[in-house]
Amino acid sequence: MGYKLKFWGVRGSIACPSPNHVVYGGNTSCIEFVLGDHVIVIDAGTGIRNLGHDFIRRKVDECKLLLTHTHWDHINGFPFFAPNFRPEFKLHIMAGHLNVGYDTGGIRSIQQVLASQMANPMFPVPLAALKAEISYEDFEAGTSFSPYKDVLVRTTKLNHPNGATGYRIEHKGKSVCVITDTEHVPGVPDQNVLKLIEGADLVIYDSTYTDDEFPSKVGWGHSTWQEGIRLCRAAKVKRLAIFHHDPDHDDQFMESLEDTSRQVWDGTLVARDNMELTLA
Ligand SMILES: [Zn+2]
Ligand SMILES: [Zn+2]
Repeated sequence: MGYKLKFWGVRGSIACPSPNHVVYGGNTSCIEFVLGDHVIVIDAGTGIRNLGHDFIRRKVDECKLLLTHTHWDHINGFPFFAPNFRPEFKLHIMAGHLNVGYDTGGIRSIQQVLASQMANPMFPVPLAALKAEISYEDFEAGTSFSPYKDVLVRTTKLNHPNGATGYRIEHKGKSVCVITDTEHVPGVPDQNVLKLIEGADLVIYDSTYTDDEFPSKVGWGHSTWQEGIRLCRAAKVKRLAIFHHDPDHDDQFMESLEDTSRQVWDGTLVARDNMELTLA
């Protein structure tokens, strides 16, 4: 019962298993929300592979998968999600970035994107051959919906090449936001983001770069942990989770980033693979 979440993948761009990425982890974007009896998963990066094994152990036979967007690091664990191969598993997949004016190469359907990534000759098993009962839904980022009767999901458009959706998941008076991937404009706080995260208990934020690195990465679609703190303070958010770590930021770099960010704001934490949080 209550509101729990677990980080199964916290990296951006590409998975980076290595002896220098042991502490914070090397899997890409995947976060599990356990809200009472219900499970919502954000993103299907490489972290979803371990989550799939855990679902089978825990006998979880139904979940909603909400995708922030469809860049590789957010979907390439999907073909390795073991419950996909079990007829008793029910999966509802939703995405909000394909019908709201971003350049998505004319593709409007999440089913089509996931089918392409598994098409011959990129993968031996086509999407249509998966055994689970899978349904697909494209919504428009900016709308709200209730995937379960005691859960409200609010969304917004983010500033990212080919689009991305920011989520706010509310349950029993608690709220957690996932704001990745997105680029900020220095000195101009993103009003869509500020509105969505207002008063949240936790905001998981695209902190790919530092403010020092940012000037050479303008246009790449990502933000900084310092901008995350500025937004959280302005919107009276309780805690910030630094997320979507650059694979070039090894454990030593991340440890120093964790120290510095906590000195700037003690509401900060750095997400790691397998980290679990419970909102009391
Ligand atoms: Zn990403
Ligand atoms: Zn992206």
